[in-house]
Amino acid sequence: MVFGWGKRAEAQEDDDDDEEMDYVLFQGALNGVQPNMKENARLVSAGLMLAKELVTNGLSRRAGSIRIDPKGERSQVTFIIDGVAFPGDRLSKQEGLAITQVMKLLAGLDIKERKIPQQGGLKAEFEELPYELQIISQPVDGGERLTVRCTNTKVKLDTPSDLGFTDEFKLKMREMASKLGVFLIVGPAGSGVTTLKYVVVRGVDCFTHQIFTVGESGRKLDNVTAFKPNEGDSLQTTLERIFRIDGDIIVTPDVRDATTAQTLFKDLEHAALIAEMPGKDPPAAVVQLIEWVGDPALVAKGLNGLIMQKLIRTLCSKCKQAYRPNPQFLKKVGLPEDLKVLYRKPKIEEGEPEPDSCGKCGDLGYFGQVPMFEVLEITDEMRALIATSPDAAAIRTQAKKEKMLTVQQDALRLVAEGKTSLEEVQRVFKA
Ligand SMILES: [Zn+2]
Repeated sequence: MVFGWGKRAEAQEDDDDDEEMDYVLFQGALNGVQPNMKENARLVSAGLMLAKELVTNGLSRRAGSIRIDPKGERSQVTFIIDGVAFPGDRLSKQEGLAITQVMKLLAGLDIKERKIPQQGGLKAEFEELPYELQIISQPVDGGERLTVRCTNTKVKLDTPSDLGFTDEFKLKMREMASKLGVFLIVGPAGSGVTTLKYVVVRGVDCFTHQIFTVGESGRKLDNVTAFKPNEGDSLQTTLERIFRIDGDIIVTPDVRDATTAQTLFKDLEHAALIAEMPGKDPPAAVVQLIEWVGDPALVAKGLNGLIMQKLIRTLCSKCKQAYRPNPQFLKKVGLPEDLKVLYRKPKIEEGEPEPDSCGKCGDLGYFGQVPMFEVLEITDEMRALIATSPDAAAIRTQAKKEKMLTVQQDALRLVAEGKTSLEEVQRVFKA
């Protein structure tokens, strides 16, 4: 039994009544376009039920995305659960096509257009929870790839406590993010950088600060003003306008090029600037910043700190297995040698009976993700080093010397706390 779990399996095993399983309800396109179901009656009869089954299956397995790829005469379904890809049903090419077209229709996209990428969304409900399904179609060899990104809109990761910040960590973030100068949230796409940025902003005291966001932020925050730039104004001009109305914390557009980087480091006397910056890790981001700004001394002067977040899967609380680790091994991986117990995904020992199936995680062994953090603080020593235009390795060495938090250390903390496993740490850092 590979996928015989989730809602469907529970309904069969636990429920007395023979009610059919509850399917996802599709509740309309986000762009307001009314899909013409009548005119597309044939497509709807071929694909709507299949689409409902697929999305229901995905949501009951807690998939963050569902993908359909054309593969010759078949369509391959992939579920991304907590950031890890799992193969789903194999559908016929026609079935995959019908689902793709129905999802596009429901999201108010142009179903006749199959040569250019399209993106839209629809509202949905499943097990009484509200979802937003982002629908992305991309032309690929042999047809179109469909991606459905599923967001439970009721789950809010809004406050520092939601992300597991300790009080000490909260204070440190608040301090770095509200000082004159630049504070950067670094990370690869899909690692929750934007969520982290708003969590940092929420952690700042909004009663003693005037907080502004520039341009499209997509999120409404209490006591934060979304400042609408004049059409054609440069970022520089926009920032100057906000300085004039005494904005002292400004969430700026992402730092993705030299112009933006130079603008942020130009006027360091007026406000605390907070921005996202794509990048592998904080030391790499500093090196990139020096190159873009063109003046290591200016970067050293203006930078207040960088934080990075990476996600790691948490062990399923219902089926995780305790074991006694070998002290020498603990020493080798950098964990306290006196740790008595660690946890892992249930391991099936040879000759022993297979453990019961876990209804919570579907035998994945993991349920959900938590962030790990890395913080690069700009101490006097670090400032002096940055002014010499160092490489990433030198920055890392200095950070280590000053005992700054790395994601690897944070991962080991989660292992020691029993929240995740060494196997999962290996998987995350191998990638
Ligand atoms: Zn489990």
